[in-house]
Amino acid sequence: MPSAQNRYRVLEHASLDWDENSLPVSSEFDDVYFSKASGLEETRYVFLQHNQLPERWQSFPFSPDNAFTIAETGFGTGLNFLCAWQAFLQHAPSDARLHFISVEKYPLRQDDLARSLSLWPELAPLAELLIQAYPLPVPGIHRRHFDHGRVQLTLLQGDATELFSALEARVDAWFLDGFAPAKNPEMWTPELFQAIRRLSDHHTSVATFTAAGIVRHGLKAAGFEIRKTKGFGRKRHMVCGELILENDLPVQSAPAPDAPEITPLPLATPWQQTPWFCPLAQLSNASGPANGKKAQQPHCAVIGAGIAGSTTAHRLASQGYRVTLIEQHQPGQGGSGNRQGVLYIKLGTEPSAHSRFYLAGFEFSRHYLNQYASADTSTTEDGLWKNCGVLQLATSEKEQKRQQSFLQRNEFPEQLLQGVSPDQASDIAGTRLEHSGLYFPGAGWARPAELCHHFSQHPNIELKTGTFVDQLRQTDQSWQLLDSAGNIITEADQVVIACAASASHFAQTAWLPTKSIRGQTTYLQTNTQTPILKSVICHEGYIAPATDQTLCLGASFNLRDDDTGLRESDQRHNLQLLQQAMPDFYQDLQDSHTDITTLDGKTGFRCASPDYVPLAGPVPVYEHYLEHYDRLRHDATRIPQAEPAYYPGLWLNTGHGSRGLASAPLCAEVLSAYIGNNPQPLERDLLNALQPSRFIIRGLMRGRL
Ligand code: SAM
Repeated sequence: MPSAQNRYRVLEHASLDWDENSLPVSSEFDDVYFSKASGLEETRYVFLQHNQLPERWQSFPFSPDNAFTIAETGFGTGLNFLCAWQAFLQHAPSDARLHFISVEKYPLRQDDLARSLSLWPELAPLAELLIQAYPLPVPGIHRRHFDHGRVQLTLLQGDATELFSALEARVDAWFLDGFAPAKNPEMWTPELFQAIRRLSDHHTSVATFTAAGIVRHGLKAAGFEIRKTKGFGRKRHMVCGELILENDLPVQSAPAPDAPEITPLPLATPWQQTPWFCPLAQLSNASGPANGKKAQQPHCAVIGAGIAGSTTAHRLASQGYRVTLIEQHQPGQGGSGNRQGVLYIKLGTEPSAHSRFYLAGFEFSRHYLNQYASADTSTTEDGLWKNCGVLQLATSEKEQKRQQSFLQRNEFPEQLLQGVSPDQASDIAGTRLEHSGLYFPGAGWARPAELCHHFSQHPNIELKTGTFVDQLRQTDQSWQLLDSAGNIITEADQVVIACAASASHFAQTAWLPTKSIRGQTTYLQTNTQTPILKSVICHEGYIAPATDQTLCLGASFNLRDDDTGLRESDQRHNLQLLQQAMPDFYQDLQDSHTDITTLDGKTGFRCASPDYVPLAGPVPVYEHYLEHYDRLRHDATRIPQAEPAYYPGLWLNTGHGSRGLASAPLCAEVLSAYIGNNPQPLERDLLNALQPSRFIIRGLMRGRL
């Protein structure tokens, strides 16, 4: 499993030849990406028509918690995705949503993708959007939104079997593409068919261009009823069918004499090692309105309009939920309220769950901010998000060694991060720097408070400011949110608690182990002589390029300190950090008569979790955990096979520390996937690493509870 590895993996790009008609051919597999007769017509015939797609979309019960999900093996040039997207726009109801999941082990280079897709002028507008949003060749799951999230692509980069086995999703239709089994037998494994079965449901359909025995037998053993039919172009046959579950058991067809041995499929993912993390299927059953009927437009309440709450509300609203976003102050005035926030991550040299999560979060946030925030200049001319690049300086010998060992392993594409010498760093920043560093060219800074405001402006969101939620009361039908006088503020089917350290205010969450860490940022008024920074610079502190004639630098770090005022000592501390890391720049500030004595700033409180990974997932019933997993207190190796218990429809999104810009949008995506039964944007082990219940289990295992 990826988590057990001590290296990040580098993805190899596809190596292509172009034939006499300028069609891409894989040189490794010696196979075509699509039919030489017509790729477009092949996709429409094999995959769309034989999954009855346009017809099924007409009668599909679309709702906020029911989008249509297609999954594909082999993303290749993205042609199948674009055809499905185009057909969806033409045939599905206007408020319907499409999820398209695909997997790719050898991603095309972006320019090869563009060249391949230029073959289809009618797809050009969609192709352009895909090319812009195309993920870097970084392993793992990449989520992309198009058309305000109406169409979403979940691209799994890595091996098909490995990643489909780690995915949590419910698929309605499969496109089994991938090179021909004879040319790529490694992909068409029994384990792949097991994963396909696990992700499918009664009546999930399948279509594939091939009628090879290994594919037919694999599908049959997985419970699909399949039939051979006329293939596309010169191909004699293709196969299509659907999964039939009788009494919830897969039908085991008698294998043909030449069929390979396939073990019957387990019905659920093995989860006995960690029974306290409920598999998605069970969880989504528990996630609907408590016991009541499903509402037409289900109602979600989100508590807290910081970056976690406002992105969660935005996601849910875009899915069609009615959302009440409740904030005791104004959006983004708490921990998310700094003038400038930096989208930045510090990756460990080894791919721990922490680093893998933040890498995924960083990549997702870049896309999310590019999609939803960069064009908004309504509140400020500079916009809400500037991807001006971030330099992480190696200001100590230890950090220099760490960065060197990281770079020598050469595990990341340079569009993600690159090593830079002091001279290169100076060119990038526009000021003389003495230290080498890591450069993240796609990173940058955002205006957190304005972002929160921006995300809370969706027409499906009602924003209630100046409102404090004091209690959560569960009824048969819903959750009631009460104020301090016991009055009902609102009732909702789903509640997401996203109010930083105050998340532990409620009876259901009082056990949360989050802590509040004070941080003070310093603002300097610039003048026309003030030196100009071109990128964000992180050292022991950070400084961002000036905006609105102000430079923002920070931030102090004070544990167990609830002083809300601005402190002179913290201002000095921030300036000292700047002077140590960037002495030339500091001198230039003084020479330019930038006032470094009358300082303004902001005090905020970061909410951090003990392992510095956010808490995003269902709220466990604490007493149930203590009772049923009690044995772990005495012997952590004897795993009690008890089922976990969660409060139906109660969720957490908190603990983002000072990295909320990198973690909150992806956590919002995780929560909207739990609530709306969407494919999850992270592998299962990372979802588990985010589950709030992990702290109860750790507490029991360490004898602390
Ligand atoms: N659907 C694609 C399109 O619309 O352009 C064409 C897919 S092409 C025929 C097959 C794809 O499967 C290739 O891009 C190949 O790199 C990918 N592939 C092959 N083996 C794989 C594996 N084990 N895991 C994931 N992808 C794999």
